[in-house]
Amino acid sequence: MIDATHDQKLTSWVANANGHADFPIQNLPLGLFSPANEAPRPGTAVGDYIIEWQALVAAGLRQDNGLTMEDVLATPALRQSLRAQLSKLLSDPQYREISEPYLHTAADCRLHLPIRIGDYTDFYAGIHHAVTVGKLFRPDNPLLPNYKHVPIGYHGRASSIRPTGAPVIRPKGQTRAPDAEAPSFGPSKRLDFELELGIWIGAGNDLGAPIPIENAAQHIAGFCLLNDWSARDFQAWEYQPLGPFLAKNFMTTISPWIITPEALAPFRLAQASRPEGDPKPLPYLWGEADQAGGALKLRLDVLIETAEMRAQNLPPHALSHSEARHMYWTAAQLVTHHASNGCNLQTGDLLGTGTISGPAPDSAGSLLELSEGGKKPVTLPSNETRAFLEDGDALILRARAEADGFVSIGFGDCRGLILPAP
Ligand code: CA
Repeated sequence: MIDATHDQKLTSWVANANGHADFPIQNLPLGLFSPANEAPRPGTAVGDYIIEWQALVAAGLRQDNGLTMEDVLATPALRQSLRAQLSKLLSDPQYREISEPYLHTAADCRLHLPIRIGDYTDFYAGIHHAVTVGKLFRPDNPLLPNYKHVPIGYHGRASSIRPTGAPVIRPKGQTRAPDAEAPSFGPSKRLDFELELGIWIGAGNDLGAPIPIENAAQHIAGFCLLNDWSARDFQAWEYQPLGPFLAKNFMTTISPWIITPEALAPFRLAQASRPEGDPKPLPYLWGEADQAGGALKLRLDVLIETAEMRAQNLPPHALSHSEARHMYWTAAQLVTHHASNGCNLQTGDLLGTGTISGPAPDSAGSLLELSEGGKKPVTLPSNETRAFLEDGDALILRARAEADGFVSIGFGDCRGLILPAP
């Protein structure tokens, strides 16, 4: 999987791409964007710029006009050839002049969801999150007996997924405070974030035709950051017996660049072996190749910026950091499990991993965990405290892949600013 596109000596003629924290020429993510007041089109981020795929046709590197995101996601060979051609276009100075009309300053562009998301499913693969949150909801019984045997998930809502930067309107909903006799309806008082990865489905499967674990990686077209905004007060009241509903589906924010499996090839890890005494997954979830390289070496960061911090010109504050390797199930296991009953996944479906908390308290992927259910508010550099998110807070997720001998890549921001309830 490692080829010339990963060469750490490869540089681009695009200003500031070399050494860029997120988008050096070794990344080449896939996205959909609009230059100012123009129609959406597919492109790739490089440095602080975006190149339209159409530049490849102008440069004679591709013959097919109108290459679509759907085709690129669904066809690994097409995705790989696109990557090789973009790498050539953006590294060889002979293509600079012909590419200029197709190169846009990212700050002047609008980013869209990369594809229409047909279905969204959220899993619960972060075991440290599952245990900590389980303790808050069920002190005697934190981890339910199914957790280590079956990847837990639920069907989420695709219509309210938005790219980074879209405002997050504080939801209203029904709650019942622990000391109240009757429920009430109003703005959430316990609005939270969840640090997750999103998994983009490439090629789908036919209804009734499961995806064997050996083939699951072939169905993954890429990854993004995903913030599963959560109203904890609604959640506590509504979640039994059918699971999350309005506490979750008011909004989900993603980083809109699709970071491909090819870009992440240098950053694969063996799945951590399970602790002594944990069950081995059933055979349909067990793949030797998946266990050997199915985890990701990714650092995940959560930052907060309050209105007061902006007023004081303070930079965003690091709330916590975690690692993608803390997932109890691999991305391939989630895909295989989802399709194991014959459920058909489709190109552009999005799977959330679940909150990826680390084992340490400061590596938690939600405020529910960081503030111990709201009991221990976090103190910020502005001397404010937060048990949960307030109006005017911006929450930012970041991801960074690093490995010796390779250029580091990032995912781009996954950011949302909380606005008051209407
Ligand atoms: Ca979640």
